[in-house]
Amino acid sequence: MQKNTTVEKQCSTCRRILPISKFRRYKHQSGDSGYRGSCRECESKQNLERYQRQIAQSNIEKKMECTTCKQILPISKFRRYKNRSESIGHRGSCIECEREQNRKRHQQKKTQSAIDNDEKPDIFRVRDCYKKVKGG
Ligand SMILES: [Zn+2]
Ligand SMILES: [Zn+2]
Repeated sequence: MQKNTTVEKQCSTCRRILPISKFRRYKHQSGDSGYRGSCRECESKQNLERYQRQIAQSNIEKKMECTTCKQILPISKFRRYKNRSESIGHRGSCIECEREQNRKRHQQKKTQSAIDNDEKPDIFRVRDCYKKVKGG
């Protein structure tokens, strides 16, 4: 006579009655051992779900609020910068806003230099052009 009569067990997750071989065994430090409440299938599913949750969580963490347009955007939408102190981070404004800001700044500079040029002699105008080329 075999002592082990429990050959089937109900899974607490999927509620199926399955052979005991479908359940993972556990062993406590106290020497107590038994079978887990969920079948292997459900356990791996739970592990997968946990894994996916972790991925989703890390995706959430990889999002940033743009300080300019106030949109929550993935970190890839932000330009990276490196300080002289070797610390790496992301800019507060997204690439789109940075582009917009650069465009505005460029326009401002343009109008500003146009005003300046009216008052400056030709030699200064040439220098301004030089600066512009050098600066890109
Ligand atoms: Zn199950
Ligand atoms: Zn933005």
